[in-house]
Parts: sequence; C-alpha cells; structure tokens
Amino acid sequence: VGPTIGVDIGGTGIKGIVLDEEGYIWAKATVPTEASRGREAVLASVEELVSDLLECCPSAGAIGLASAGRINADSGEVVYATDNLPGWTGLRLAEWAGLRFGLPSCADNDANAALLGECRLGAGRGLRSAVLLTLGTGVGGANMAEGRILRGAGWSGGEWGHSVLVPGGLPCNCGRRGCAEQYLSGTALMRTASQAMGRAGLSPAELMECVRSGDSQAVQVLREYAGWLALFAANLRVGLDPEAILLGGGAADSLEVWRPLLEEALAAEGAAAFPMMKALLGNNAGCIGAAMMAADLLHRISANQ
Ligand code: BGC
Ligand code: ZN
Repeated sequence: VGPTIGVDIGGTGIKGIVLDEEGYIWAKATVPTEASRGREAVLASVEELVSDLLECCPSAGAIGLASAGRINADSGEVVYATDNLPGWTGLRLAEWAGLRFGLPSCADNDANAALLGECRLGAGRGLRSAVLLTLGTGVGGANMAEGRILRGAGWSGGEWGHSVLVPGGLPCNCGRRGCAEQYLSGTALMRTASQAMGRAGLSPAELMECVRSGDSQAVQVLREYAGWLALFAANLRVGLDPEAILLGGGAADSLEVWRPLLEEALAAEGAAAFPMMKALLGNNAGCIGAAMMAADLLHRISANQ
C-alpha cells in the first residue's frame, strides 16, 4: 500500500506524519492541542493538520488516529477519556475522520500506537513481549505479549497510568486518588520539582541541568521519581514478565541524566539491571504507529476485496 497519515492527539500537542511502508517520512507537522477550548476546537486543529498533510501528499490512502483515552480499536470510538481531553468520551473518532476526508480511518490508544511503532521500527524491534510507558502530560501504557497488543475486554488494557501507586494519594482526573499518572507523568515531575526547588516556571532542561550539576534538591526530586518508577516497573514485571519496558514521553527524553538513580532504585526493588529502555522513535512513536495502523487497515481492506 502507499503512504498513510498518522496523527497523535495528546494532552499538549497534536502531531501528524505521512509515512510509507519502508518507514520513510514524507511529511510531518505539529499543532498545540488547546484542550481547554473544548472538543470542537481540538477536532478543528486535527482537521487543519490532516488537510495540510494531504496537501503535501495527496496519495496518502488512509488515516490512523492515536489518542489518549480508552479507544475501541474495532469501531474507532473513544470509550472513555479523562479531562486531559474534555468532551472526548463517546467521540467516534475514526468515523469523524472517515467522513471529513473520505479515506479509510481507524483509531487506537496513543500508547498502543506508540508500542506498535517501537516494535516495528524502534527500540522494541525483535521483542515478542514488551510494555511501553509514556511519561508525558499523562502516563500512558501498552502491553504486548507474544507479538500482540493486549487491548483488554473493555479497551483499557495497558492503562497503567490509572493504577494506584499511592493509596489515598493525590487526586487524579479519572476520579481516583493516588494514580501512577499523578507521580510519574512529566507534568507530575515538573510540578514536584518546581515546588521542592521553590522555582515556579522551571523548565525540564533547567531541571536536568541542576541534576547534572549535582544540585541536592534536584537530585532528591529525581531520586524519588526514579523510586516510584522502579516500584511501578517491578510490579509490572512480576505480573506481565515482559522482555523490556520501553519509556517514552517528555520525562524519558532525559533518561540518561537520571539513569543511575533508576538503576539504584531498581536494585532496591529486587529488579537490578531489568532492561528499561528509551523509546527510540521519541515523540514521534505515536504518530508513526498510527500511520502503521492505517497501513494495516488498507491491507485488510485489499485482502477482503
Ligand atoms: C490516559 C491514557 C493515555 C495517557 C497518555 C492518560 O491520562 O488515560 O489513555 O494513554 O494519558 O496520553
Ligand atoms: Zn487516574
């Protein structure tokens, strides 16, 4: 099949790509999510982005959409999304794109799409069982076992971000308390750091510079963060026994800076040297995986014809 479009709708940004089956990127674009302006505004941004990509590459034959939330990957409907994307629950995302652009369209959870991308083109190549965690605006998760993504009975397979790490802990957008997302997201890391260091508006790059130069408060924040992540990873490892855990999202960008703290914490959890790797496709993993899903859809369509 020819090139396809992949779109990744996250809590902060919307990324789009045109990809062919050899893995070449034909075009790429990004726009901010502006979630607070509501669902129609977010859809309008997606529409603009996809129109631009189609203008660059009119031969693109299908659209794959990756979004935060539980997505029914058969129907392309958002079964449930937290208020990171207000009004998103119930949205028939694939149908919307199909009608707007007249192209075969499909949708899946953003972390599922990212894991697919990583396993075909990135850090997960050759793995049969893997977990991917995205440490971004929220915490996304995806499980692959025996080469298949496990989506679960109600499409929440891999939603590790809303498993509870701290009973009675911080309130989460999903209505529970103490969800992993409140401790492990990039947002949570930056919130904790700016509070602990008394520096409002601290940027991720500034935080990492402080860690590199041995600032004791910054190191302490990352030590605690790595401790939560190691506890979380050790639990996932016991239950799912993956070959590796891949880490994506903003907080994983600087993994090399805090890797020693993570190794220490893994050892303390009895998981010394357990392979936790950075997702190689970085922030593009979700839209690359979404474009691959769209190519898979085209293959299914042509097999049925
Ligand atoms: C959502 C997940 C999503 C993750 C990353 C979480 O808040 O519940 O579905 O994968 O954010 O976007
Ligand atoms: Zn939650």
